[in-house]
Amino acid sequence: MTNKKGSSDVEKLKEDLLNDYKEHLDKLFASETFDLTFDEREKLIDTAVNKNRCKILTEHLEKDPDGVSKNNYHPDESSLCQCGACAPLHRDKNGEPKVFKREIKTKGGSITVQEYGYYCSQCRRIFFPSPKKAGSVQRKLQP
Ligand SMILES: [Zn+2]
Repeated sequence: MTNKKGSSDVEKLKEDLLNDYKEHLDKLFASETFDLTFDEREKLIDTAVNKNRCKILTEHLEKDPDGVSKNNYHPDESSLCQCGACAPLHRDKNGEPKVFKREIKTKGGSITVQEYGYYCSQCRRIFFPSPKKAGSVQRKLQP
C-alpha cells in the first residue's frame, strides 16, 4: 500500500466502526435476544465481527492504488503476462476499459473488488496484474 489514508479518514473509519459496534452491542443485549441459545448468540456475535472485518477490508481495497475505485486512476494500456507476453488492456465493445467485479473470499465472508483486466492472446486468458490479488480468484474468470 503506497496510498496511506489520512489520519482524519482513519479517525472517521474508527468512529464509524465504534458506532457500528455499539449498535451491535445494543442488539446483543436487547431484551429480544434474551432467550437466544448459545449457538444463536455466538452467531450474532460473529455477524458483527465479520461485518466490520469486511468493511475494513473493502475500505483497504478501495484505497488500493491498482484498484478501479481509486480516484483518477487510469489503467496502463498493457501489462506483462506471467508467460512473458505483452497483454493489452481488455476493453468492451465501445472501446472502454472493461471493469471486472471479482469476489475475494475472506475468513469472514466475501468482499467485491473492481479491477481492470488484461487479455493475453498467448495464454488466451484475462488476468489481473496486481500480484497481491492474484491466485485462486483469478481462475474464475478464465474462459
Ligand atoms: Zn500469457
